[in-house]
Amino acid sequence: MAPIQLSERVRKLKPSSTLAVTARAMQLRREGIDVISMAAGEPDFDTPEHIKQAAVQAMREGKTKYTPVQGVPELREAIAEKLKRENGLTYRPDQISVSTGGKQALFNAFMALLDPGDEVIVPAPYWVSYPEMISFAGGVPVAVPTGASAGYQLDPQAVAERVGPKTRAILINSPANPTGAVYPEETIRRVVEIAAQHGLLVITDEMYEHIIYDAVHVSAASFGAEQVLTINGASKAYAMTGWRIGYAAGPKPLIDAMNAIQGQSTSNPNSIAQWATIAALSGSAAFIQMAREQFRLRRDRIVAGLNALGLSTPTPDGAFYVMADISALHRDELEASRILLEQARVAVVPGTDFAAPGRVRLSYATSLEQIASALERIGQLMGVTA
Ligand code: GLU
Repeated sequence: MAPIQLSERVRKLKPSSTLAVTARAMQLRREGIDVISMAAGEPDFDTPEHIKQAAVQAMREGKTKYTPVQGVPELREAIAEKLKRENGLTYRPDQISVSTGGKQALFNAFMALLDPGDEVIVPAPYWVSYPEMISFAGGVPVAVPTGASAGYQLDPQAVAERVGPKTRAILINSPANPTGAVYPEETIRRVVEIAAQHGLLVITDEMYEHIIYDAVHVSAASFGAEQVLTINGASKAYAMTGWRIGYAAGPKPLIDAMNAIQGQSTSNPNSIAQWATIAALSGSAAFIQMAREQFRLRRDRIVAGLNALGLSTPTPDGAFYVMADISALHRDELEASRILLEQARVAVVPGTDFAAPGRVRLSYATSLEQIASALERIGQLMGVTA
């Protein structure tokens, strides 16, 4: 039989390195090897009990069938209320589309927006999936570099300079994965102004809005909702990564187009997870506060520990990642990640696919004990003590 010929589109697609390293760590664990995984960004806390109970109740009530493509109206109402209460934004439920994770919401958006050659401006370092999704949809990611010495802050002027005839959108992600940078109000306001001047869309991924320490989260849509597509979801705020619920809120024609794409792909996000997310969004905020305080302690511990080991690491204002400079390991980031996994048994993601050469990303969404052990193992590998 002749070999199966895959599409050119998929031949160009790079598999997700965050998920690949996580899978490798899980496989080593199954083989009985004690690996500390600081790879995929996933809160280690369990999903709060009242959310699980809502899922059980949904199943008991037979809410196990197809739902409207864009999600049940009750969930879209709960999202509209959340956007009003927490972000000061006014959206109608028909301007909201619920998807299988924030990833599908982003994927639908790029597929709905981009024709071949259309450009999307993306601050770098960026999350591994942004450029891949943009390219898969036929678009071209245009990176705006940001640096560790400036806390990975975005210079709006550098964004403006990259706008050209093919630009369709500017993508921002604050708090950011992988850098943890949180953009101040002024930066976000300027980005929306630049978009408005040139008739572009701002796509703002606000998935980490609640994981924020000494900074304040500002929603881009508060500076002009007609110019902005807001992406968010339940994964990080409520420790619901496996439930796969994300959403987009934005101009209705774009949301309608995204719904049409979803209707021809996944039909609807999981019905049970949708009902659980209603409980998450309308329940107590105690879990979010508890998680934030725990993440803050962990951030402080890991930043201090890595710097003491000579792996220079800026202090992030949000999310649960740090970007460590691995020059002291005298290897590039791919090789450093390999020896960290194989010799120190600590799984980290190389900076390569984040456009962060010379750095590795560590997720500190794990216990203080695990963080202490990871630092000890890395220290042993380097022959130093933190
Ligand atoms: N967004 C998380 C990360 O960067 C989860 C894994 C993924 O989807 O990339 O690790």
